[in-house]
This record gives sequence, structure tokens and C-alpha cells, in this order.
Amino acid sequence: MSTLQHTELLGLSNQQLTELVENFGQPSYRARQLLDGLYRQRWSALEQFSNLPKTFRQQLADSGYRLGLPEIEQKFVSLDGTVRYLLRFSDGQSVETVWMPEGDGGEAGDGSEVGDAELRDLEGCHPERSEAALADERSRRVPNTGTGARESNDWHRATICVSSQVGCAVDCAFCMTALLGLKRNLSAGEIVGQVLAVLNHQQVDVDRERINLVFMGQGEPFLNYDNFMQAVRLLAEEAGIPASRMTVSTSGIVPRIADFGQEPVRPKLAVSLNAPSEELRTQIMPITKKWTIAKLVATLRDFPLRQRERLTFEYVLLSGVNDQSAHARELVDLVRGLRAKVNLIALNPGPELPFATPQAARVAEFQNILIKAGIPAYVRRPRGRDIYAACGQLKHTTELIQLS
Ligand code: SAH
Ligand code: SF4
Repeated sequence: MSTLQHTELLGLSNQQLTELVENFGQPSYRARQLLDGLYRQRWSALEQFSNLPKTFRQQLADSGYRLGLPEIEQKFVSLDGTVRYLLRFSDGQSVETVWMPEGDGGEAGDGSEVGDAELRDLEGCHPERSEAALADERSRRVPNTGTGARESNDWHRATICVSSQVGCAVDCAFCMTALLGLKRNLSAGEIVGQVLAVLNHQQVDVDRERINLVFMGQGEPFLNYDNFMQAVRLLAEEAGIPASRMTVSTSGIVPRIADFGQEPVRPKLAVSLNAPSEELRTQIMPITKKWTIAKLVATLRDFPLRQRERLTFEYVLLSGVNDQSAHARELVDLVRGLRAKVNLIALNPGPELPFATPQAARVAEFQNILIKAGIPAYVRRPRGRDIYAACGQLKHTTELIQLS
């Protein structure tokens, strides 16, 4: 048996790759070639690096270097087009990564820097858009170069939901990922690798197709902050997905929110609020004991928003628990004065979850109270509930139920 230690190239930055190639006695421009092959070409094996001398590739392989792309262990396709990937890393651990075609259009966040009016026009409010209108929109967006350009019917506009940890330690009462507990952090390469593996599988050309990323899969990104931020920089600077098309969601790790505000390259920020009072939030999100709503909101008031940027509050509605009109009014008082919007998510059910999904009328009433008070509020459409791909359902579930 080989005792060779493996080192993964995916996740290494320009600076780290420059040191690496120089240690092999190679000119520093080889780092750029590696970056290009890893993140732009998205090659999955060292043999594909035709831009490097064969001898150098061999040296890398002999020294235990490999790329580190995760393998697709399983794949579930929803009736709504959502695909839940179970991706396996080299140590056998796996996470979920979700592909949501035609924009998140649902619960994941607003997923766009284009402005909400355009976004609504493109997705949620016009689900009945005709095929002809869709084809027309696509043909306007994809120049036909005559050089193997895509057929108009497989043009991509999609959101990828990315995991940041295997499992999660935060223990929210309504989330199936919490039931896994925390297995381990993901490395920067493993976070980037999820995106690259899905882009490869979906054959996406990031220069022509509009891809949003939401860091809302398994895990709490701000409890794996450095790896998460390194992944963001690599995705933005090397893989070609602008940070303005990324959104990260946190359960409210207050000191990291402050750090995040200082980052020169960063996604938009979403905060999972889920309850308007300390007492109620502590019951469903025990992390509130450590980082209270008061501290959280105070930090958000100081958060340096960019021009036209807004914060997002996510609020999972649990029937009879946090979905009453009085809760909506408390929420209004809490977020008033912040440049923010609220995304309402009716609970995505799971067999082990001790909560029920509220009726649509209750959700609408809750939303109305916010809107009447001048707070933009959206109801997120669940995506891929039938395959356990929706928010809070990521727990490697392989026995699927059909929901009505
Ligand atoms: N850990 C981070 C990011 C992942 S969770 C966070 O909590 O923000 C992404 C979103 O899913 C969060 O807003 C969370 O509140 C929501 N969520 C969790 N469980 C859910 C469920 N069962 N139904 C609907 N949304 C859920
Ligand atoms: Fe972790 Fe987010 Fe689920 Fe809470 S909602 S347990 S923070 S993944």
C-alpha cells in the first residue's frame, strides 16, 4: 500500500501556487497556468493540464499532488428542475450542493445585483412566462457565434447553493442539518470544488451564463470563516463568478459579521433571524444565548453596506410558533431603520422536525403586515422539497417522500 501523502491543489491561491511551482524550480508563470486549469478550465485530472510540461505534471503527481474535485456520489432531480448533489471528498465525507435552474426564484436569497424589480420580473412573479417569451429572452442573451453555441433551450440562469461545513454545530430546532451535528469544516478547496463540480456537470460557461451562488447549504459559513473567505476570493477572482452574485447566510455570528463588513471582496449578507424576540429566538436558535438579537442588530446597524445594497433577513415561519401577527409587528419594530428586506420561508418539513408548515393565508398575512409598515418582504418559493433539497432539509436523505 502506498504511504504517499496527498495534497490538494484546489483551494490554493495565486501566492500559494507561486511558492509551490518555485519550490519545484519552475518559472512563476506556471502558477497562472495552474490557476487557469483549476478554476477556469475546471479540469478534473492532472493529465488534462496540457498547458504544463509533462515532466512537471509527473513531478506533481509523484509528490502526491492531486486536484481535489469532489465526486458526485448521488444526484436527485426534483420535479421543479432542482438537482440535489451529494458530493464526496477524498476522506469519504460528503455534503450537499443544490442546483436551482432559472434563478433561485425561491427561498435562497435574492441572488442578484440587478435590482429586485428586474429580478421579480425575471422569475417569481411571472412563473407563467410562455415558452416563446423564454426563448426570446435567451436568444437576446446568448449571441449565436455559430461556433457550437448552445441550443437556446439549454441556456443557464441558475443558482447554486453551496455548503460550508459537513453538518452544523449551531443546532437550530427547525433544521435537519442540525441533526447531523458538526462533522468537520470544509477546506477552501472543498467549498470551491462543489461549485466547479456542479458547473462541470451542468456544462456551464460562466462567461455567457448567469450563475448566482448562495452559501446556504450545510453548515455555518461564519464558523469556518477563513476557508469560506478564501473560497469566495477564488470563485470571484479565478473562477469568474462576481462576488456581487453571491449571498452568504449566517445564523448571526456577531464578531465575524463585523469582520465580513471589512472585506474588500465579499458576497451580500443574509441573516437568519427567524424570531423577533430574545426569548422566542433562544428557543428555536439556542445560539441566541451567546449572540443576542440586541448585539446582532447593533452590529448590523454598523454594517457598511455598499451603494444600493440591502441586508436580507431570513425568517422561517413555523406554524403557531413565530408566525402570528403580533410577531410580524415585533419584527417591524426590530428591523425598522435598517436598509433591509425580509425573506419569508414557510417551514420545509422533515420527518424529524417538531414543527408544522403554516397555511399560505397565514404567510400572506404576515407578509402584508411587513409590507404595510414599509418593509420589503418576499415569500420564497420552496425549491426541490420533494427531493429534500430545500432550505434546512440537507441531511443526506436518500429515502424520498412525495409532498403534496
Ligand atoms: N447556517 C446558515 C446558512 C445555512 S441555512 C444559516 O443558518 O443562515 C439557510 C437558511 O435555511 C437559513 O435561513 C435557515 O433559517 C433556513 N432553514 C433552516 N431550516 C429550515 C427549514 N426546515 N425550512 C425552511 N428554512 C429553513
Ligand atoms: Fe446550522 Fe443554519 Fe441549520 Fe442553523 S439553520 S442548524 S445555522 S445550517
